[in-house]
Amino acid sequence: MKTIATLGSHCALQLLKGAKDEGFHTLLVCLKKRANLYRRFKFIEKFLFVDRFDELTQPEKQEELLEEDSILIPHGTLISEVGVDLVEKALKVPIFGNRWILRWEADRILKDMLMKEAGLNPPQQLKPEEIDRLCIVKLPGAAGGRGYFLVSSKEEFNHFKEKLKASGLIKGEEDLYIQEYRVGVPIYFQYFYSPLEDRLELLGIDRRYETSVDSIGRIPAKYQINLDIPLTYIVVGNIPLVLRESLLDEAYNIGEAFVKASKKNVPPGMIGPFCIEGVYTHEGLFVPFEFSARIVAGTNLYIDGSPYSKLIYDEPMSMGRRIAREIKVGLERGALDKLLT
Ligand code: AMP
Repeated sequence: MKTIATLGSHCALQLLKGAKDEGFHTLLVCLKKRANLYRRFKFIEKFLFVDRFDELTQPEKQEELLEEDSILIPHGTLISEVGVDLVEKALKVPIFGNRWILRWEADRILKDMLMKEAGLNPPQQLKPEEIDRLCIVKLPGAAGGRGYFLVSSKEEFNHFKEKLKASGLIKGEEDLYIQEYRVGVPIYFQYFYSPLEDRLELLGIDRRYETSVDSIGRIPAKYQINLDIPLTYIVVGNIPLVLRESLLDEAYNIGEAFVKASKKNVPPGMIGPFCIEGVYTHEGLFVPFEFSARIVAGTNLYIDGSPYSKLIYDEPMSMGRRIAREIKVGLERGALDKLLT
């Protein structure tokens, strides 16, 4: 029997619980300092301890994973702690999904390109001298909104840029991505695309709970002004959401358009879980501003299934379990090559 492996962070519990429920062996690449947490969960059968996650690319660590006949499930921590370069060039363990598309997630220019190819119109990207409206400035990488800031003029942008440079968070202006800020309510669509069935499934929807942006509205405006609280978008959790049913058709169309564009631009295309992230404006328009080309942590809400997974499956179907199910079916049909890269 194959082993399903992942890094101990982000959505590891859900992934390995789902893998175990589908009958796989489970392995966690675990930071030594997190051993106490993860040892609490009996569905994790084997541990590979590391001091840093990028040790994963060392030959002896890879050997251990290969000996266990492992399939690695990528998540946000693989991108932020190991990085797409090593995932592309140094990681020999098979990955569930398209490892090449992770670069398109991490690189904002490629990301915008793919979204446009899918007919999704992300908010406009601006140069510093073009800032003439409210903009959000983003730092590179999958850091969960860390370090983002709002500006409405070039001067304000320069002020923040210098602060970030001084603190070593960026090398220069080229590291910053300026995007038009769109006022709306955040919505994150959690999809699964099955190459085996050629079918898109919307398995859940959530929104993020971000500090300080979600805490500022809890105090009156006069205190907001006086306290001068820095506006940050650091994710501390996720909140479940159901969509107006009349908007569901659009949600499916968006996901399918993305899958189609990914097949054309990043062969073999999207495989398995992904997420489209955006806001609904007051005109009822969905403005997508991001995608994640792998499982997102918001799926942790639905370990026991979601209102949407329940419409497709008569059993609790988390995203982690759905991944394991696809691998299981792939094994049965001798079609694993369609799922792994
Ligand atoms: P991200 O890490 O890109 O998903 O963004 C983190 C948070 O920043 C989101 O959850 C939104 O609250 C906010 N955000 C990002 N881009 C935009 C945008 N263009 N307009 C409005 N809010 C945004």
